[in-house]
Amino acid sequence: MAVSRPHALRLVALTALLGAITGFAVPSAPTGSGAVREVVLAVHGGAGSLPRGSITPDQEKAYRTALEKALRAGYTVIRGGGSSLDAVEQAVRVLEDDPNFNAGKGAVFNTDGEHELDASIMNGRDLRSGAVAGVHNTRNPISLARLVMERSKHVLMAGRGADAFALQSGVPYTTQDYFFTQRRWDALIRAKGGQAADTGGTVGAVALDRDRQLAAATSTGGLTNKLVGRVGDSPIIGAGTYADSKTVAISCTGTGEVFIRGVAAHDVSALIDYARMPVERAASTVVNDKIPALGATGGAIALDPKGTLATPHSTPGIINGYVTRDGTIVTRLYDDETPAR
Ligand code: ASP
Repeated sequence: MAVSRPHALRLVALTALLGAITGFAVPSAPTGSGAVREVVLAVHGGAGSLPRGSITPDQEKAYRTALEKALRAGYTVIRGGGSSLDAVEQAVRVLEDDPNFNAGKGAVFNTDGEHELDASIMNGRDLRSGAVAGVHNTRNPISLARLVMERSKHVLMAGRGADAFALQSGVPYTTQDYFFTQRRWDALIRAKGGQAADTGGTVGAVALDRDRQLAAATSTGGLTNKLVGRVGDSPIIGAGTYADSKTVAISCTGTGEVFIRGVAAHDVSALIDYARMPVERAASTVVNDKIPALGATGGAIALDPKGTLATPHSTPGIINGYVTRDGTIVTRLYDDETPAR
């Protein structure tokens, strides 16, 4: 049916009015690639492999409940008109507190049987960012990363100094045993016995607020049996995390060394900025082509300023979830739930 111009204008005005009344009015729709539209917040719980049947129904419920809780925490911020920066911090804190993920409580062990935690956060509004690497005693590394951004002159703080800064700033401090889980200890013992380490479980979030500003955050315990002092991509701005409200908010997961060498997160932003690629192509180019060409695998969640979410992975799967403007929550655990590109 042809719509005359005055009619069309009235329709546009009506849609805008509805949007203004309800806050968010447009339902989500798949894009044809693996991307999803009308997303305001997404989280991931690490790239890896989770075939159907590999976890019990109780474990499945625990994962989905945790992802939903994180998404709700972030969505409450966005729906209330809060910033994407607050939303990603809140969402990541929920996953750091959950023992099922390799971040905060539940983090993996290094070769000395210790936890060394990495995290970063970035504000797409002004490209301000904060990060911490190798912290031992900070309960929520993502909040310490934010404090580094907001209350220090620095971007990245590491080790003892970062923990001391946490203590001075009054963020919850804890002992190493708080991070302990039997599952991660068993994985360390297996790794030391020469078996493949069950790592995965890094967490991240990306969000878009009502001011059309983007933010991204990533937090991890790194790799099981990593050398003491090893730092991955997660706290490296431009490698594991990046946000620029003109282009994309992105949080990566996978073999950190290669994401650092490939400057993965910033590369996705650059492909959108300079090569004018849509987010799904840009993210897929890096995750499905460039990273494997450098000899590793991983995944990412990438959200553009229009609300298009790409979740490419070159691992068999990536644990993730998202919430759309209208508050619909979707969680995806199994390898076949999230398209690779
Ligand atoms: N990228 C993380 C690291 O290398 C690990 C992961 O995402 O699984 O520390």
